[in-house]
Amino acid sequence: MRDNPLHTHFSYDSKAQFEEYLQAYSGEIVTTEHFDLSNPYSKQDDIPDYESYCREITRLNSLYDNRIKKGIEIGYYQPREADIKAYLAGKDFDLQLLSVHHNGVNDYLDGEVASVDKAVVIKDYLDRLEYAIGRVEADVLAHFDYGFRLF
Ligand SMILES: [Zn+2]
Repeated sequence: MRDNPLHTHFSYDSKAQFEEYLQAYSGEIVTTEHFDLSNPYSKQDDIPDYESYCREITRLNSLYDNRIKKGIEIGYYQPREADIKAYLAGKDFDLQLLSVHHNGVNDYLDGEVASVDKAVVIKDYLDRLEYAIGRVEADVLAHFDYGFRLF
């Protein structure tokens, strides 16, 4: 099993176009765009523009034989749970990933995290991850190693 999420320009950290994936692979694809509130890495709320995401997929699906499915990578952060649920309400995704990327102060891949006691970081990360499971609807728990990849 491999963890190879696809992101496009609808994610704050990607410039990829759907066409690049459609040309590289002949089957169906699903992109899971980053949805990260209070993101310490970008210092903002990173929210995929759902309306234009849907519009672009509809346009490309008519050209590419309906090969694109809709997805999202939900970066769970407990203090923003109500905002996360409000954004997801009424939206339709074929695949929802659940992630924990940050603790409100640092993204877990932030170099600063490496200077903290790893036992403390890992315990805190796993506590947040365990809490996140079941708080929002998700199909896949993404990259559970994210909080200790630095170590
Ligand atoms: Zn992720």
